[in-house]
Amino acid sequence: MSKKIKIYLGSLSHNYACNGPFTHPLNLGYLTSYAKKFYKSPKDLDIKLFVYPNDIIDEIKKNPPDILGLASYTWNDNLNKEILKFVKKNYPNVVTVFGGPNFNNYNLEKYFLERPYLDFYIVNQGETGFLELINKYSEGKLDRNHQDTQQMENLAFYNKKLKRVFIGNIAKRYKDLDIIPSPILDGTLDKFFDDKNLIPIIETMRGCPFTCTYCAWGDDWLRASNRFSLERVLSEIDYIAKKYAASKKKFNGYLYLADSNFGMHRRDSEIAKKMREANNNYGWPRSVWATWAKNSNEKVIEIASIIKPMLQAGVTIAYESLDDTTLKNVRRANISLEKFNKVREYIKSKGLKTHTDVILGLPGETKDSYLNGLRKVCDQKFDQVVTFNCRLLGGTEMNSPAYIKKHGIKTKYRMLTQGYGIYRGIKAVENEEVILKTNTMSTEEIMSMRPVNWFFYLFWNNGYYVEFMKLMQLFKINPIDFIIELMKNLDNSKDSIGKLYKDFLNESEEEWYDSPEKLFQENSKIENGKLKAENFSKLNAKYTSKVIFEHKFEMAKKLLDVSQIVLIKKFGEDYWLKKAEQIKDVINYCSQKSINIGEFKIKNIKSKKHKFIFDYPKWLKNGNGETDIQKFNGGINLNFYLSKEKQNRISDMMEIHNYQDIKEVHMKLIEVLHTEDLFYDIGYDIGEEKQEKLKDKAITSWSLES
Ligand code: SF4
Repeated sequence: MSKKIKIYLGSLSHNYACNGPFTHPLNLGYLTSYAKKFYKSPKDLDIKLFVYPNDIIDEIKKNPPDILGLASYTWNDNLNKEILKFVKKNYPNVVTVFGGPNFNNYNLEKYFLERPYLDFYIVNQGETGFLELINKYSEGKLDRNHQDTQQMENLAFYNKKLKRVFIGNIAKRYKDLDIIPSPILDGTLDKFFDDKNLIPIIETMRGCPFTCTYCAWGDDWLRASNRFSLERVLSEIDYIAKKYAASKKKFNGYLYLADSNFGMHRRDSEIAKKMREANNNYGWPRSVWATWAKNSNEKVIEIASIIKPMLQAGVTIAYESLDDTTLKNVRRANISLEKFNKVREYIKSKGLKTHTDVILGLPGETKDSYLNGLRKVCDQKFDQVVTFNCRLLGGTEMNSPAYIKKHGIKTKYRMLTQGYGIYRGIKAVENEEVILKTNTMSTEEIMSMRPVNWFFYLFWNNGYYVEFMKLMQLFKINPIDFIIELMKNLDNSKDSIGKLYKDFLNESEEEWYDSPEKLFQENSKIENGKLKAENFSKLNAKYTSKVIFEHKFEMAKKLLDVSQIVLIKKFGEDYWLKKAEQIKDVINYCSQKSINIGEFKIKNIKSKKHKFIFDYPKWLKNGNGETDIQKFNGGINLNFYLSKEKQNRISDMMEIHNYQDIKEVHMKLIEVLHTEDLFYDIGYDIGEEKQEKLKDKAITSWSLES
């Protein structure tokens, strides 16, 4: 009887600070199902899959495997490294393997010499490399220090004797992806459906026709898009929906669609219809995360409108930059603003919201072009504009020495949100490498955009002050110009918002490290019985929580003061005097509508009533706050309350995130809740006895219509 090969595979998520939600390990499922199909003796493969660090460490200690494979990306690279160090020290015979796109193939020798605990890296198509590894292992030919120069398909390793790296053929890609059995349909991933903190992923295709230099999918190797068959994708949706419906356990309702350009292919409407059908029949998925095709057209919009109730952010048209030189440098092609203008009305007519991303620090971008880009997306009335700092990711063209040199790129490192933990005594702290200087933007200029991004996040993206911002737009004040004026005011303010602003600036200066090692050294210290990394939180979310919890009414005063400055400067004193009451009113509306999660936790949320000059909910509902507000004049009594469904959704999320500190819960909720769940339901106050009936028709936040 042949000996079984014991293999542990991990696609690990840090669950020390937060319980998720994370994703199902679909990547590991593929490796397993493929190996079981093509390995000569599948019954001899004993493969176990893991997503939580403690579970895999416990299993290793109890019963060390023959092969340990970890999927490595930016969110778990340090954790994987620390686990492999521990394993090589205590169980030197275990074959250690990494896989995933986070691979520096520009200096392979340096890569392996810095990681003496790593035996093999599976490069590009994981299924082929993994099968090759176990075939060679079973044949006793997995000797990486062999005297002969031996190549292994899709595997890279360092040969100590010959002092060089070997890398086999890594160019192969399956055209017919169905050759890989579905780990969803064959039950390989079944055990993960019991975990309400995990989100299922369905992969529809692999590859991307675009060439963005900051993305691992921009690599030429992935140029052609190969698809899984439609029948298979539909069956997977069906399988998951039925599984959740049959289960007595709670599930989170999410679905991730792994598709670089959803909506690009005609068949995607069939996939959308299937998701909608599953939602209607089984209550899953309730939320779909998709990356939309870059050149949005009517087809994409039709598809988005099919799954509209499940979309978190409406249709994404990711610009990343609106500057032509920058787009050329990063080899990205966008839909033109003119074309977007044409589809925009169509998107709105379908009741969908629009979302875009803009990246700070791309090569070629200047401070002015960045701010102008933000002004343009505001003028285009995107409902959400998410800004990111540009990161250098493994396996991308941007990370190549030639590209870095050409564009004068300088980077530093900072912590990743919730990317840390101590697992059975093994400490890990993740980092992200961020561009802080290019030939066209100095470090000071990049840093000076941080508060712009934060205020935009607070005022617009999360909807906390969006009615106020939209009113300013009607007065011909671009939100970005308002924010710049606000920052000037705060530079010289000694009040609580001025202090908060300075704290934000200081913290944004202090969060950088020169190397990942220094970051690890500092943040893996234990202080007051806690890992130092625990003090870290994402600044945008942290300071947004501070405003909403502690300074909501001071912020209201500040917005009024700055409006006065801006409007007098642009239109004179009389104009301001005419508009002052309206501005006070809209700011009060914004302050009243947000929920204090702290009150929610202690079950102290009470309904409340307020009177306003304008009917803001109707103004947003009929025309998205872009039409003349005077038509909504006349005085309105609004009732702010929380529906049972909303209370349940918030409670469920609070339970999943299980934090002690309510501010931390709030920070996470900002990221994971539908935006409207951050706000009260709002109904027209026409007397107590009629309120109940109105609940169904309540007009909630600005984003509910999406
Ligand atoms: S960023 Fe998107 S469009 Fe660009 S290469 Fe990556 S997946 Fe393709």
